Amino acid sequence: MNDNPQERPRALNGKAPDVFTRGGWVPMREYGEEEVDFVIVGTGAGGGTLACKLAEAGFSVIAMDAGAYWRPLEDFASDEHHQSKLYWTDERIVDGADPIHLGANNSGKAVGGSTVHYMMVSLRFRPEWFKSRSKLGYGVDWPLDWREMWRYYREVEQTLSISGPVRYPWGPKRPRYPYRAHPLNAPARYLARGAEKLGIAWAETPIATLSAPRGKAPPCVYRGFCAAGCSTNAKQSVLNTWLPRALAAGAEIRDLAMVGRIETTNGRVTGVHYHRGNEWRFQKARNVVVAGYAIETPRLLLNSASCEFPDGLANSSGLVGKNLMVHLNQSVYGYSQDEIRSYKAPPSLALTEHWNYEDAGKDYHGGWCYMAPGPLPADWARTVSQRGLWGRELLDEMTRYNHAAGLKMVGEVLPGERNRVTLVDETDQYGLAIPQVTFSFGDNEHAMIEHALDFMDRALEVVGVTQRWRNESETAHLMGTARMGHDRATSVVDADCRSWDIPNLWICDGSVFPTSGGVNPSLTIQAIACRTSDRIAELASRREL
Ligand SMILES: Cc1cc2nc3c(=O)[nH]c(=O)nc-3n(C[C@H](O)[C@H](O)[C@H](O)COP(=O)(O)OP(=O)(O)OC[C@H]3O[C@@H](n4cnc5c(N)ncnc54)[C@H](O)[C@@H]3O)c2cc1C
Ligand code: SF4
Repeated sequence: MNDNPQERPRALNGKAPDVFTRGGWVPMREYGEEEVDFVIVGTGAGGGTLACKLAEAGFSVIAMDAGAYWRPLEDFASDEHHQSKLYWTDERIVDGADPIHLGANNSGKAVGGSTVHYMMVSLRFRPEWFKSRSKLGYGVDWPLDWREMWRYYREVEQTLSISGPVRYPWGPKRPRYPYRAHPLNAPARYLARGAEKLGIAWAETPIATLSAPRGKAPPCVYRGFCAAGCSTNAKQSVLNTWLPRALAAGAEIRDLAMVGRIETTNGRVTGVHYHRGNEWRFQKARNVVVAGYAIETPRLLLNSASCEFPDGLANSSGLVGKNLMVHLNQSVYGYSQDEIRSYKAPPSLALTEHWNYEDAGKDYHGGWCYMAPGPLPADWARTVSQRGLWGRELLDEMTRYNHAAGLKMVGEVLPGERNRVTLVDETDQYGLAIPQVTFSFGDNEHAMIEHALDFMDRALEVVGVTQRWRNESETAHLMGTARMGHDRATSVVDADCRSWDIPNLWICDGSVFPTSGGVNPSLTIQAIACRTSDRIAELASRREL
């Protein structure tokens, strides 16, 4: 029988893959065509977390994902090329002055979403960022309070068994991380020494891979293939944390289920049309949650336009698809006399958030942090070839791979309506209009990049890294396109991730971010999902769903 999980659904006939054993299964409740309380579109950081929490709160839940249901122990190879099966590589059109490079570095297609191949860096927002307009004078305010988010961050950190330092140097005091920090690899030691020489604080990065066993998951073995999917389960992704819990609580997960349209009648959603097993089907639901990430979420809302909602769902503000944000991900690299072997261990084991918390002396708005990256060989070849190296020159450069040391930023991009997701006439393999992603940096981003590259260059110079060069065009992560807010005229959803226009339509993923902050987003997405579940349970108890 065909057991290719990209061709034939695995979660069927009352069982789903047991991600902790080879060939194993766990029982799964199935709802058939019965109307359920919630259909969730997407099982990544937002959707997977919410599926777990809603099922545990007693709701009937079906979570659908266009991607495959992988078993890490048997399906993941230490092979960058082979593992591209984890990326969302369906056709998208990119344009603007700075077209975004899409795929491996920012979007996944799998049960567990992009967290299956994410780098696990798990950082909290600076509290002021939730009110960046009122407190810092740029962007827009979130409708959330940082103290409440701080509680939800804690819940996610416990669930993911985050390994982190005893004392985190920035922001309000926080409890100890659940697991001890990982030892530093060579790139992280370079970062630490450079920061100390420049007189700024650094820390071991809070990261979602185990530093000691936990349940059926072993500790990290430091082989460094995290961005290709972890074949040991040391990585704490949505696939092996929230989703097993969701199944145990009675949620159904439908893999290889591409949702193409949300149906509405009389101002309410009634269910979703989805493609699975070579046919279109309809699933009835009392509520629909869209959690497809910042490109597929607006795409689905726009593709669901109807006579009643001619501009797409939840779009009375005209903001669905607008205010797309990425993170600046520029880097400086050079060479050390010592062997660095930066591929050993997870990337980014040390960081400094100095420029997230220090605003003095900046000629731009927003924050950025930097980490010690660990590119794998193919990724490194792609990176160095951006300098125009090819053939013999590229081969010579690759022989120095083990001596390369670098620093990479995660920098805040301001929201702006010029950066957006729209639809074009061209269609994909399901017959659905494909998205066009338009993106350009503004003056603020250019000023931040210049400051960050100069600073990181100095941080490498003071530790003896020579022949330095700058990689100026990279971006990472996706946010915005269905922002949350206080006001229905200037946002798509409210603080509870409920759409202003349609009371039983919710959006719960990276697209609800009003601003991007200077840290990787997944911890915040999961914290928002935990909060949303609590709010839904509260609204249900008051019969306000
Ligand atoms: C290489 C890489 C490294 C990263 N490293 C980090 C990191 O270190 N720290 C960090 O915080 N963040 C990191 N991120 C970002 C993080 O993974 C994402 O921000 C986060 O997973 C987004 O969560 P989400 O729920 O919005 O979307 P996702 O997690 O991407 O989940 C969306 C899911 O929806 C599914 N989907 C979309 N449309 C449909 C549809 N119409 N029908 C059915 N299913 C659909 C997709 O298949 C996907 O599985 C990284 C991302 C990548 C790609
Ligand atoms: S380095 Fe650790 S987290 Fe990364 S792939 Fe290996 S075992 Fe998994």
